[in-house]
Order: sequence, then structure tokens, then C-alpha cells
Amino acid sequence: MTSPTRKPTIADLLAAGGRRLHSFEFMPPRSEEDVYRLWSATDALAPLDPDFISVTYGANGSRRDRTLRCSQHMVSTGLRTVGHLTAVDQGVADLERMVADYADSGIDHILAIRGDMPGGATEPWVARADGLPNATELVKLVRRVHPEACIGVGAFPDTHPAGSPDLDARILVDKYEAGASFAITQLFFVADHWSRLVERVRALGCPIPIIPGIMPITSYGQICRFTELAGTVVPDEVVARVDQVKDDKAAVRRVGIEMAAELCCQLLDAGAPGLHYFTLNRSRATTELHAMVTRLRPGLWG
Ligand SMILES: Cc1cc2nc3c(=O)[nH]c(=O)nc-3n(C[C@H](O)[C@H](O)[C@H](O)COP(=O)(O)OP(=O)(O)OC[C@H]3O[C@@H](n4cnc5c(N)ncnc54)[C@H](O)[C@@H]3O)c2cc1C
Repeated sequence: MTSPTRKPTIADLLAAGGRRLHSFEFMPPRSEEDVYRLWSATDALAPLDPDFISVTYGANGSRRDRTLRCSQHMVSTGLRTVGHLTAVDQGVADLERMVADYADSGIDHILAIRGDMPGGATEPWVARADGLPNATELVKLVRRVHPEACIGVGAFPDTHPAGSPDLDARILVDKYEAGASFAITQLFFVADHWSRLVERVRALGCPIPIIPGIMPITSYGQICRFTELAGTVVPDEVVARVDQVKDDKAAVRRVGIEMAAELCCQLLDAGAPGLHYFTLNRSRATTELHAMVTRLRPGLWG
């Protein structure tokens, strides 16, 4: 039961049901210019009143510090803040220290993610000798070091590049049993892929809420980068719609946002518990997309 003084966690909000959540992912700034862009984006998106925001995590020491500082700032403004954590190039002692830093900073939500090798999602994973083999073990570590934390994990409607539909579902159940309360998906473009992942996980008796991760296409070049970065293949029918307007940058952006809004509506109609927008630290596309979705599906947000 929620104590009267504690702000409800994401798990509490999801368990309460009745309305859908919306949330934004940001990246910690790497330069002065990035700092300006990030705060401009958070200022512009704050009026949309997100249920939570999350801050991604890089693979080396300075990036870790940036994630911590950025998360500390976000949580100090009253935003429900999820700090990402990955096991890349870190020993158990480093991970324990980072979780303790999150706990000391009042960051009670952690997205426990394995991370990728420098070559991206398709490069075979090699764990450090003093590190962890996968995200399930990271969930256990977070649970041990920060018992109060509300833990999220990653999920893959398009199948993880090193996984399979059944293995992905099994791993998600393992992460739930290890202590995760919710999952956020990698970006994807076909609503049915999310529904099938949910079905497979429910068939294994696991109730973990799976929040779709959404990124609209805003430029033609992005289509190839999705595959390089996330291992997500953009379906032919999506590419074909963008192809029709590929010489007109504004039209590519408009079509990309319209397609993302269609995907969001299909997901909400299929029962998605919320939408997590990958903002890339820019506010305009996310603002337009969320406004479009809210217009098309009013009354879902409470
Ligand atoms: C919402 C979201 C946020 C992300 N944020 C970040 C971020 O901030 N920083 C970053 O660097 N990356 C981030 N990523 C990318 C992520 O690091 C990669 O997608 C990574 O390849 C998988 O991470 P995971 O936590 O799902 O790994 P895991 O759950 O460990 O699974 C990855 C693969 O490992 C294998 N595996 C795992 N457990 C088992 C098992 N028990 N038995 C057999 N095989 C197993 C499987 O092949 C599986 O497909 C994010 C991804 C998502 C979905």
C-alpha cells in the first residue's frame, strides 16, 4: 500500500489503472550547446505534464556522471525521474556505487538495461570478468542495493537482435521475477508486434506492464540510423510512405509524425498502458505528436 507521504511510483500509477501514462526520454548533455538544447526541450515539454521522464546512460565514466547530474537536476524540479543504468564496461562495484548514488539523490526509479558493445545491438555481448552477464542480474543488483527502487527494464516488440520471440518473452518474465515492475520497449513501427509480445508474456503468466517506446521519423536519414543504433528494421510500408515525399523535408517530418500518431492510437486501442516518447532532446516533434494523439484519443490521460 502507498504511504500517504510517498509520491506514487510508476508501478503505483500503472496498478491504479484508469488512465494512460505518457513520458519522455532525454539524453544527458555532452556540450554547452547540448545543455541549452536539453533545458529548452524540458521547458517546452513540461506543460505536457509527463507522468515521468527518463535519462539515458552512456558507457564510460564521464557519461555516467552526466547521467547522474542530469537525473539529480530533473528530480529536484519535482519530475518523477527514471535513471537508466547499463552494465557496459562496469564491474559489480561500479554498478553498486551508481545505484547507491541514485538512492542518495532521491532517484527511486531505475531502468536496468544490459547495454550494448561499442558496435551496437548486433555486436555479440561480452561481459566484463567482474561485471554482469545480462539485465536480469542487474535488476537483482539494483533490488539488493536500493530495495525501495521501482525498477523498469527493456522489452523488444521487434525481437532483440540476439534473441527470438520466445526467448525475449522468457527473459522479460525473468526480469519481472527478479524484481522489475514495468518494461519500456525499444522503438518499433508495427502495433501488432507489441500485442504479440504482450500475449507471449501473459501466456507465461506474467503481468508486467509493457509501455511502448515511440520515436517518430523526422528525417529520411533517420531510417538507416534506427537499424544501426537499435537493430530496428523499418518496415517496407513505412519506408514507402516516406519515400513518396523524400525530397521535401517538411513533408517527411509531417508524414513521420502522422504515422507515429497512427501507431500510438493503434497501441492505445490495443490496451497499451502508456506511451514513452524518445525525444532526442528536441521538443517540437514530441509536442506535435502528443497533441495529435490526444486529439485523436481524448479522455485517456486523466
Ligand atoms: C527502453 C530502453 C532504454 C534503453 N536505454 C539505454 C541506455 O540508456 N543506454 C544504453 O547504452 N542502451 C540503452 N538501451 C539499449 C539496450 O542496452 C540494448 O537494447 C541491449 O541490447 C539489450 O538490453 P536488455 O536490457 O534488454 O538486455 P538483456 O535483457 O540482458 O537481454 C539482451 C540479450 O541477452 C541475451 N540474454 C539475456 N538474458 C539471457 C538469458 N537468461 N538466457 C539466454 N540469453 C540471455 C539474449 O540474447 C537477449 O536478447 C535501451 C533499450 C531500451 C529498450
